[in-house]
Amino acid sequence: MKSGEQVDVCVIGAGIVGSSVAMALAERNLRVVAVDLDLSGRLSSSEKNAGGVRATWWQPVNISLCRASIEYYERIAREVGFRQKGYLWLYDEATWPQALDHIGLQRALGHPIETLSAAEVGRRFSEIDKLDGIAGATFSPRDGLINPNLLKQHYRAEAVRRGAQFLDHVWVVGIDSGHDKVTVNCWQSDEPMSDAGLMRLMTQDGPGEAESGHLFDLRARAMVIAGGAWSPYPLRLAGLKNYSEPVRRQVCLVDNRVTNLERYGMIVDTSGIYFHNEGPHIMAGYSPPEEPPGYHFHYDGEAFFQNEIWPRLFARMSCMERLRHVTGWAGLYEVSPDRSAIVGRAAPGIYEAHSFSGRGVMQSYGAGQALADLIANGAYGKLDAAALSRDRFDRGEQAYEALHI
Ligand SMILES: Cc1cc2nc3c(=O)[nH]c(=O)nc-3n(C[C@H](O)[C@H](O)[C@H](O)COP(=O)(O)OP(=O)(O)OC[C@H]3O[C@@H](n4cnc5c(N)ncnc54)[C@H](O)[C@@H]3O)c2cc1C
Repeated sequence: MKSGEQVDVCVIGAGIVGSSVAMALAERNLRVVAVDLDLSGRLSSSEKNAGGVRATWWQPVNISLCRASIEYYERIAREVGFRQKGYLWLYDEATWPQALDHIGLQRALGHPIETLSAAEVGRRFSEIDKLDGIAGATFSPRDGLINPNLLKQHYRAEAVRRGAQFLDHVWVVGIDSGHDKVTVNCWQSDEPMSDAGLMRLMTQDGPGEAESGHLFDLRARAMVIAGGAWSPYPLRLAGLKNYSEPVRRQVCLVDNRVTNLERYGMIVDTSGIYFHNEGPHIMAGYSPPEEPPGYHFHYDGEAFFQNEIWPRLFARMSCMERLRHVTGWAGLYEVSPDRSAIVGRAAPGIYEAHSFSGRGVMQSYGAGQALADLIANGAYGKLDAAALSRDRFDRGEQAYEALHI
């Protein structure tokens, strides 16, 4: 692609959300270029998540975007490793009434969901043998687990098949926008970036003197900010207010020779831990509420496993007594004030899809389709994401969700 070349839409960030947006725009015959500092996504949230997909949310817009995504994932299930084995969610006395309050809406929007007593949980999920503190549970059979990397590759392949381009090693350093005209100033690394260089650049707002690269411009009729947890930087470049912050989340793989949870999807315990089978291991995550915001990628390793994971698993299931910590990692949630994504038109020529607050994989298809309709036609189509526009914060109409996966 030549400097100054004109396209219809430039997408900043090609994680799972930017890639879905690129596919949806290309499906509408728009000429798209998506840029990313690291298309392999070494630090991107899309490569660090737990792969959970569910539609059991509190806000109609979140339920609808997830349901549309689930319907699409069902159609391409084999290609993207969608295992529709349900979500089992265990609630305590404090949270069970809230769950019951929202089931009606979820069912009304077409999402099947069962309620279970503690005894029924014990009968149907025999590994869960310690039922203390379970006031009730929900099981949503259309939810499940997906391979996020395969899903991202699917979006990209479909986008490329329709003429979209993905530019690698590119960091956006300037944005100049007017009505129907946007110039995106890009810096491109002259050589593949080392892990250390990538970390430096992505935690310090752009290339420093140690990085060698060249500058070029892209011109477009519109641009989309889909930079995940790094969206505050392009928002600032575009003179737009940022509402969200990055927050570290850790997950680990544990070895358990005794139990195989293969027949289940995601299980979420009253203690806040979530886990599912992952190949020969169990993947488990827990998000301490006191985690401070910031671009933190340090994984606490054995201490995380010993303090947060093992005690919670063993408190619920005797078969988890003997576990071995295998590995783990930390990635970023991009958390908005009401824990719903920010999607829509931000200013003339500038659109956004970020701050998915732990929901980016499961909403990626629906959000991409909704936004592409808005860009291509000037109005939402079948999927309406208006409730996620940034002006909700000024209108005082927040789309509140509890923070979880
Ligand atoms: C531990 C953990 C577990 C999670 N579990 C789930 C789950 O079970 N289900 C679920 O749906 N979600 C989950 N999430 C959240 C989910 O991973 C994210 O919401 C989703 O990946 C966000 O995708 P994205 O494309 O917006 O961001 P990213 O994947 O982070 O991609 C953003 C991309 O933008 C690029 N970029 C940013 N700024 C610039 C710039 N200026 N120039 C060029 N490129 C730029 C970055 O390089 C990056 O590749 C989890 C997250 C974590 C960390």
